[in-house]
Amino acid sequence: MLVAFLSFGVAAAMALPPLIAIDVGHGGADGGATSARGRPEFAYNRDFALVLAQLMRERGQGVREVNFSGDIGSLAARPEHAAGSDFFISIHHDSIGEAWLKPWRWEGKEQSYTEVKRGYGIFVSAQNPDPETSLRCASSMGAMLRLAGFSPSTWHGRRHLPADAENGVWYYDNLVVLYRTTLPAVLFEAGVIKHRDEELELADPKRQARMADALATGLAACLSVTGISARE
Ligand SMILES: [Zn+2]
Repeated sequence: MLVAFLSFGVAAAMALPPLIAIDVGHGGADGGATSARGRPEFAYNRDFALVLAQLMRERGQGVREVNFSGDIGSLAARPEHAAGSDFFISIHHDSIGEAWLKPWRWEGKEQSYTEVKRGYGIFVSAQNPDPETSLRCASSMGAMLRLAGFSPSTWHGRRHLPADAENGVWYYDNLVVLYRTTLPAVLFEAGVIKHRDEELELADPKRQARMADALATGLAACLSVTGISARE
């Protein structure tokens, strides 16, 4: 009886893999931030989103691609493209204010960089329709990132209230992609592309795969816990 119950439970869980909407931040005329070597943030966002989407599909999770070709200009339109998904994650790479930038030359061109900020950040909004799931999954992903050896940026404490600072999770209430949605949602800043060393690390395919593994594992674990409590 117990065996039958368990196998039914596993079958039911396997029949409905979570559908994750992955949004590539920026695009079109808006390239986002510019890296220490002059590469637009959108290119970093798309590269990492492709790695994450492929890994999630290999694990049997459904993936909805949002703005992978960079043609959705409107921020408000992105959550609409995610409708019907179980979770929304927007992929970004971070910069820093002008006051913290230093000039340097890279491949003959004037560029700028910082030495004071590096590390990942995960943002949630208290205005999201499901702030509890958003925060639980943000913490789960942050915890997995830390276990995989990644360090959260402490810099965000200057402008954002902590949601779970230990795991690199902060509140960012007025972010359109986080509150104009019917889904639990997070915005993920993979790291600081204005930091010269971190930019090289963020461009490393092996490191991208490790980071995607931590995110996908943390999110799958969180959503399976959410699913169990929802069915009770
Ligand atoms: Zn961005």
